[in-house]
Amino acid sequence: MTQQEVQNLVAEVVTLCLQKQEGQQQKCAAPSEILAEASARHVHLTREAVEALFGRGASLTKRKDLSQKGEFLSEQRVRVVTPKGELSNVAVLGPERSAVQVELSRSDCRTLGIQAPVRLSGDLSGAANVYLIGPNGMLQANGSAIVAKAHIHLPPDEAARRGLYDGQLVSVRMESSRPLTFEGIEVRVKESFTPALHIDLDEANACALDSQTRAVILSGERDTPVCACPGGQAPETKKAPVEIPNLVTEQTARCLVKQCSGSLMLSKRTILTPSAIDVFRQARICIERE
Ligand SMILES: [Zn+2]
Repeated sequence: MTQQEVQNLVAEVVTLCLQKQEGQQQKCAAPSEILAEASARHVHLTREAVEALFGRGASLTKRKDLSQKGEFLSEQRVRVVTPKGELSNVAVLGPERSAVQVELSRSDCRTLGIQAPVRLSGDLSGAANVYLIGPNGMLQANGSAIVAKAHIHLPPDEAARRGLYDGQLVSVRMESSRPLTFEGIEVRVKESFTPALHIDLDEANACALDSQTRAVILSGERDTPVCACPGGQAPETKKAPVEIPNLVTEQTARCLVKQCSGSLMLSKRTILTPSAIDVFRQARICIERE
């Protein structure tokens, strides 16, 4: 391929990218990535439940902090039992709460032979009955078992920056070796929250969640990345924060999309490989030329 042909190809691709961008309703359709975390089965206990299971005066001891401020994994473990099955070594999360809540996956419910409803944490309407067994006793936890509904935690400033609000339902596209899109995921906004998507183990396995997985928040409308800037205005074109080589490969592009939003200014001389162009396109980043 001659130099001229390469330049023509680059110009054509840049034009395509600009046309695509202009065709979108919002010019600033930058992606909205979020940390995805899988929650294994666990229980939340009241003060009375802690004493019933672990003895009078007992309290939960912290093993490690969780991503949400104040929440921790305790050293304590319980068994969750029904007439049909049992789960042992189930984690107890602290601090203590005002109601006993057992969060299970659908697979766990099959093991236990119960039909727990899908609910956001804190909503125990229609929750199933289980028994909890600790080293010091047993507890009949009626109306406590739910299948946790996938949700997103965001602090208010972060929600505003991403154009999201408390109670909003969004879709999240999981870009992994088993890509899929979760729909109807509720956004929860609170000062103490740290940005994270929480899914259960069934959902994590369904999308083969691992450390390489990108979770991209989409608006309720399918396949439209949530605008990352307030008021639907296009973000300012950012100068690339890093030195950009003359040839941008897919790998370099993946690096660059993490560091910019909206658009990226490149020198006229910079050549993009087709797979790099795909990466920018997927990330809805428009390439501009100096
Ligand atoms: Zn959560």
